[in-house]
Amino acid sequence: MKSSDITMSILLMTFCLPVLANTQEHTSPTKPSLVLQITVDGLRGDLLERYKHNFAKSGFRYLMDQGTHYTNAHYEHGNTETIVGHVSLATGAPPSVHGMVGNIWYDRQKERLVYNVEDDSYSMLTIGAGVNQSTEVDPTQKAAQKDGRSPVPILSTTFSDELRLSNNGQSKAFSVSIKDRGAISLGGHAGKAFWFSKSKADFVTSNYYYDEYPQWVTEWNDSNIPAQYSGKRWEMSLPREQYTLQEISDEHKVDLAGFNRSFPHPYGPESYPYFPTMLTLSPAGDEITANFATTLLKEEKLGLGQHTDYLSVSLSSNDYVVHMYGSNSLETEDNLIRLDNTITTLLETVDQQVGLENTVIVLSADHGVPESTPVANQLGLKNAQYFNKNALVSEVLLKKLKHEFGLDDSAILLYAQPYLYLNHEMIKGKGVSLGEVQRVVADEIAQIKGVAAAVTSEDIKNGRVQNSRVTTLVENNYHPTRSGDVYIVFEPRSYINDMDGITIASTHGSPWRYDTHVPIIFAGYDIKAQTISREVTPYDIAPTLSNKLGITLPSGATGTTLKEVTQP
Ligand SMILES: [Zn+2]
Repeated sequence: MKSSDITMSILLMTFCLPVLANTQEHTSPTKPSLVLQITVDGLRGDLLERYKHNFAKSGFRYLMDQGTHYTNAHYEHGNTETIVGHVSLATGAPPSVHGMVGNIWYDRQKERLVYNVEDDSYSMLTIGAGVNQSTEVDPTQKAAQKDGRSPVPILSTTFSDELRLSNNGQSKAFSVSIKDRGAISLGGHAGKAFWFSKSKADFVTSNYYYDEYPQWVTEWNDSNIPAQYSGKRWEMSLPREQYTLQEISDEHKVDLAGFNRSFPHPYGPESYPYFPTMLTLSPAGDEITANFATTLLKEEKLGLGQHTDYLSVSLSSNDYVVHMYGSNSLETEDNLIRLDNTITTLLETVDQQVGLENTVIVLSADHGVPESTPVANQLGLKNAQYFNKNALVSEVLLKKLKHEFGLDDSAILLYAQPYLYLNHEMIKGKGVSLGEVQRVVADEIAQIKGVAAAVTSEDIKNGRVQNSRVTTLVENNYHPTRSGDVYIVFEPRSYINDMDGITIASTHGSPWRYDTHVPIIFAGYDIKAQTISREVTPYDIAPTLSNKLGITLPSGATGTTLKEVTQP
């Protein structure tokens, strides 16, 4: 790293040129050249520490050992899903403010489910790069009815927006991820976002951002980096006995389309329709993302101008691997070992081009994860269970709605995590109180085994919710036009196990501690090596970055500034 070189040059300058008046200006830049925001999708706050001993020195351990590491950071919203966390990282705000209440929600004006960053005002720059309904395994992606994507649905500015606004767009801001929502969120409204199309095995964008691809993007796609994995297999990188956990069960692990439940996992030939999906379910997804991101860094000359630039890299593989194999699997540890190598390469590239001492690095995650349910059960957590979605609306409930309000079955529109949506037109037409209908529905659902709480939107609106940590998180998720009528909280480790018909190893999205817990590490530019255990929230990241750079906070930010970072 360059910090020792800098220290040496300070010493030399101090001893050789004691009269040089502007030493300060040459040795300690007054502002960072680059902000590098790394997000590891689904990385629970304790997992880096758990797997640390198998990491090399210059990746995760550089950040953990040389940076300011917050070990007790928790989201303060209930629906710990990917878009919600990513946008909170970007805006410093809860979903009640930034509006992204879930990966999907029911749009009452369009009268259909919408995907979070779906926008029919725009289209993909590459024809056919949208969701392939026949091979897509992510049910939330499948809910999108249009190929167009944009950050317009995000209702607050982001740190990257404010950085661009602070100097009339002279700072450059870019964001990259396998997932469209992982890229669009952090790129904000004024930055540029690229994501991976599983239909094309290319990095793509929409015409919100560009009218045509920059030349380097076309060249990167033409070089067909993903094809390098054709016919190869994801193998264990260490002898089995060196892994931290030995698996006590693998019955819950998923064999998706021939990718196998256990090592080795064959990617298959490039021509296989699921080949790009296999890449995303393994370390290859992050390797490809980082390859694209380092090309972007060089081609767009980030960190080399007069103004601070911004690069967000959201690494999605951990999330998919945890969904398929569980957070306590060999696959999850191996993926993190390989991600450690990927992050090492990313940091080395930034160090060569910009210098880590000139870069504010911040690493966090969009949500945590539980251990897989069958493993938890084997260890004695008897309440762990999968929840049958069909059990939410019982015959008893339907009868009550009929008897008490004259409402038929279509009064209940649908369930889209975490909300049950009711038919407002019908309820209005009957002249009955929405609040009373919600109350009956919530009381009935709250009695179902596996449900911990059911909170109505009318109670939130009118300040009638009993105060607890979980209900506060539910309230922070409430947006008046996007949230549904009843927020359903399942008991710890109980969830609807349905990823497009596949029974998956685990899923997140609850307000419980395992899902809200993420790491926050700041490193690089004048940041101290220290471990902080007081409870903080990822909402603090964007305000901290803003204050570090002396710019305005994102419009909706509610987080506070982390003083250990701004006053090192
Ligand atoms: Zn996620």
